[in-house]
Amino acid sequence: MRVVEPVVELARGLATTLRMIFGEKPVTVQYPEEKRPVRPRFRGRHVLKRYDNGLEKCIGCALCAAACPADAIFVEASENTDEARYSPGDRYASTYEINMLRCIFCGFCEDACPTEAIVLGDNYELSFTSRREAIYPKEMLIEPVPPGGQPTPQKTPPGVFTRSVPEMKDSQD
Ligand code: SF4
Ligand code: SF4
Repeated sequence: MRVVEPVVELARGLATTLRMIFGEKPVTVQYPEEKRPVRPRFRGRHVLKRYDNGLEKCIGCALCAAACPADAIFVEASENTDEARYSPGDRYASTYEINMLRCIFCGFCEDACPTEAIVLGDNYELSFTSRREAIYPKEMLIEPVPPGGQPTPQKTPPGVFTRSVPEMKDSQD
């Protein structure tokens, strides 16, 4: 009896091993060639959004910086003119930086933004080799100009883009 029991257990263990080798599909994902889709509410690297015409949604109000519990955001605003317009309204973010070493990806900045300019996207490929590189400037964060839009700064007709915060279709969004 003492000899049979370990042999039976050994056989069961080997059977499990063989079943996993020949009977199961591998679960390994061949990253980076193959990427798993992220969850719908995943919070990844920030993106600064633009309107369809290419103007920047960020108006430099710094509410995101005020809401950030990790003090990770730095915003400096400058004045728009109709000759050189970056965003609707009076001001735009001439400097916008996020320190990714401080960020805890809580999403408070996204919630605080009145123009839905800052959004946590689905990019999780954050890598840097120094503290300086961990500070992502506006040039890294802003999305490309959409098709049909124009890069900023734009020359715009007077009196058209006076409103900083757009009319929202659904204020509960
Ligand atoms: S996700 Fe949270 S911690 Fe990161 S920048 Fe936004 S508010 Fe700050
Ligand atoms: S991202 Fe939004 S909250 Fe932050 S400065 Fe720009 S407009 Fe204001």
